[in-house]
Amino acid sequence: KALAPDEISHLALDIGGTLIKLVYFSRNDSWSVDDKGAKSPKGDSPLRVSCSNLDYPILYGRIHFAKFETIKVNECLEFIRSKKLLHGGCWHHEAPVSDKNVIKATGGGAYKFADLFKENLGLNLDKEDEMDCLVSGANFLLKAVHHEAFTYMDGQKEFVQIDHNDLYPYLLVNIGSGVSMLKVDGDGKFERVSGTNVGGGTFWGLGRLLTKCKSFDELLELSHQGNNRVIDMLVGDIYGGMDYSKFGLASTTIASSFGKAISENKELEDYRPEDVARSLLRMISNNIGQISYLNALRFGLKRIFFGGFFIRGHAYTMDTISVAVNFWSKGEAKAMFLRHEGFLGALGAFMSYEK
Ligand code: ADP
Repeated sequence: KALAPDEISHLALDIGGTLIKLVYFSRNDSWSVDDKGAKSPKGDSPLRVSCSNLDYPILYGRIHFAKFETIKVNECLEFIRSKKLLHGGCWHHEAPVSDKNVIKATGGGAYKFADLFKENLGLNLDKEDEMDCLVSGANFLLKAVHHEAFTYMDGQKEFVQIDHNDLYPYLLVNIGSGVSMLKVDGDGKFERVSGTNVGGGTFWGLGRLLTKCKSFDELLELSHQGNNRVIDMLVGDIYGGMDYSKFGLASTTIASSFGKAISENKELEDYRPEDVARSLLRMISNNIGQISYLNALRFGLKRIFFGGFFIRGHAYTMDTISVAVNFWSKGEAKAMFLRHEGFLGALGAFMSYEK
């Protein structure tokens, strides 16, 4: 059916361990306006879409994005209530179950919070598998959205032109609270080949314990100001300032993350939180970059796309991951990032309305 101007449809949720991601579509006659046009208080930055390639139906309008902390799920309920975000845009709280009371949801929270959504909003969550959603979200973005993927090296961001006929296979690394690594061979064709429990949740949790930061953004900002060389033991610290050149290890290579925080002349308080935050970010980004590369190597994959909200478009995070992939692969494999990094699962749930 044709949507009226501004009518909202296709609300979809990805309820993860740390964040709830919400995606919805609005048909908007003023869709030719700049895509930063309509901003909601929650940092909602709509993506203007007009997809008409063979894989996707024709869509004219905006896809809106919002996120909430999972521990504050009530804020998400309130947002949905206040914006009357139901499938079809109508509010049917007291109505019997119809397709307007059913929304697509993925992530563990689609199970954990099913009763809460039912009791508070009268909404039934139609559950979609989170890995299926990650892959269909990534494939959609890579095929349908111009300037979605980019590389990031030495402070340089370069958009990558994706050839639709030469997209597969690739490794998708989603860095959320934990990390999933998927070998993607086509639409709906993939395998979860690996993962690691040392992910975004580890950075945020450990960072909070070590620095007393009150928010993730504060921790990121702190890491921006820090110097990891005060905390990390470098090859040069061990070799008296020299490289270990026989094995290509520069004096600036980290030999041991946090390995220098053992000085007898320093009290714990002498280690600055910004330096700790920087070492931690570097340690976790490096580790994920390395494990990703090893999995790419296992399957002969040259392209690794990184998603998940850990990245947050943060220069230092992307730089560290890129350097790790480049270093270990000797320049053979490429790390690429996605503009809609944290919304892959939610977009996949959104796409599943078309199934
Ligand atoms: P999940 O689905 O597991 O919640 P996400 O892709 O949403 O995963 O990423 C969650 C991670 O993103 C957190 O562990 C943290 O590292 C990072 N993050 C980014 N922004 C925030 C934020 N505002 N609050 C908490 N964590 C955030």
